[in-house]
Amino acid sequence: MAIIGPQCFQGAQQGCPPSFAGWLLAAVMLLASGTAWAMAELTPEQRAYVAAHKTATLCVDPDWVPFESVNARGEHEGIAADLLRLVAERVGIAFTLVPTRDWDESLAASKEGRCQVLSFLNKTALRDEWLLFTDPVFNDSNVFITREEHPFIDDPASLTGESIVFPSGTAMEERVRSEYPNLRILTTASEAEALDMVQDRKADMTMRSLIVAAYAIRKQGLFNLKIAGRLPNFANNLRVGVVKSEPVLRDVLNAGVATITPQERGQIINRHVAINVQTGTDKALVLKVSVVFAVVLCLGFLWNYKLKKYNAELTRLSQTDLLTDLPNRRRLMAAFEAELERAKRYGRPFSVIMLDIDHFKAVNDALGHLAGDRFLIGFARLVRDTIRLTDMAGRWGGEEFLVLCPETGRDQAAHLAGRILAAVAAHDFDTGRTHTVSAGVSAYEAADTGDALLSRADNALYKSKHTGRNRVSVL
Ligand code: GH3
Ligand code: MG
Ligand code: MG
Repeated sequence: MAIIGPQCFQGAQQGCPPSFAGWLLAAVMLLASGTAWAMAELTPEQRAYVAAHKTATLCVDPDWVPFESVNARGEHEGIAADLLRLVAERVGIAFTLVPTRDWDESLAASKEGRCQVLSFLNKTALRDEWLLFTDPVFNDSNVFITREEHPFIDDPASLTGESIVFPSGTAMEERVRSEYPNLRILTTASEAEALDMVQDRKADMTMRSLIVAAYAIRKQGLFNLKIAGRLPNFANNLRVGVVKSEPVLRDVLNAGVATITPQERGQIINRHVAINVQTGTDKALVLKVSVVFAVVLCLGFLWNYKLKKYNAELTRLSQTDLLTDLPNRRRLMAAFEAELERAKRYGRPFSVIMLDIDHFKAVNDALGHLAGDRFLIGFARLVRDTIRLTDMAGRWGGEEFLVLCPETGRDQAAHLAGRILAAVAAHDFDTGRTHTVSAGVSAYEAADTGDALLSRADNALYKSKHTGRNRVSVL
């Protein structure tokens, strides 16, 4: 590798004439590595910048494993370090690490111009004030970490009064603070401390990138913690930050970022999150890690499954009458419109039956509202059991019900209404007496509007009420 420095790959133009041996070695290395990466494509201005500067100062987070850290020898390592190394190689810039105590000091150092590049960070409004950003180098979602007993979090806005702890100065802290004022925010000096605070009940939750969470829970053996949900629209789009005074350097690095392939990213993640462990000899640890990863994976699936289930349940609830569990008026109307359209288009028969319980107010008055509710539930069940599967009965409102009867003519519908009346009269509603219901039937006629069809059923019902109740009228 030493024979062909990155600058020399890039070209003869920069005073690095390629020797035959150099090219040959380059070709062999490319084939051997099995990767299809290319040198970054730089404009003449960018090439001139690289030739003139050759190095850039870099500040990093010394405590953000597995993304990045600084080891005992003062070297930058981790996912970010490997990605930056690729970028550096492909644009021909060498980074000089400026040592800092922590991430806050790195931020301060870049503000003061002591380092030109910040390794790996989210773009935020605050940071835009002094930094330019490359395109994302890496995307990772953010998850809530809670103790085992905490319920699944599907809407962070509903978590009133709960506390969330962040290592100070993170982009997530900035965003959660402004978008979820319902959460009480605590800060700590380090990632590990934040997890400890959740474990020790000093905070209800913390938030972490999925990758860091999986790594940290494994590394610290925090098996009573879990990933309780994902924060919507809060992915970590990690980028390289460059001080505003160096726009060409940003463009150069961006060209390098563009050369990184998804396969290379995958290999780098594996190197830092999974393979470290698989090559180790500690079988118990391997097992634990596998379990954690399986759990993380399952949680992802579970989260999706729950979301789908919640949505289906929400749709069902919005269309169902909560007391009787029958379709509500909204669902009835949607089905009514669809059936009407079918009747119109294909000339099929279609009828409706409007039902109104007779003297229902007397049930409430005599036995109370709760007994009235039970009556309605029993009545709904009875109607549902009396009609055909292809009919639909729903609650029109109060003690009125509507039955839609597709493929049913006037006489058949009147017959069905008669069956409902007979079933009601024969049913024991547990009130100590018998009950009756009145019905109005109407059937679709050519050029009928929905309103006309329903209002005929309504008038027919009115007629039944005014001619003695417990009867079927057809209009
Ligand atoms: P009619 O034979 O003329 O239809 O007499 P009615 O007493 O059934 O009719 P009215 O419209 O005077 O009264 C309907 C009653 O239904 C009044 C209302 O309190 C009751 N009601 C409507 N919705 C509910 C409900 O969800 N639960 C209970 N318990 N009662 C309800
Ligand atoms: Mg009524
Ligand atoms: Mg009534």
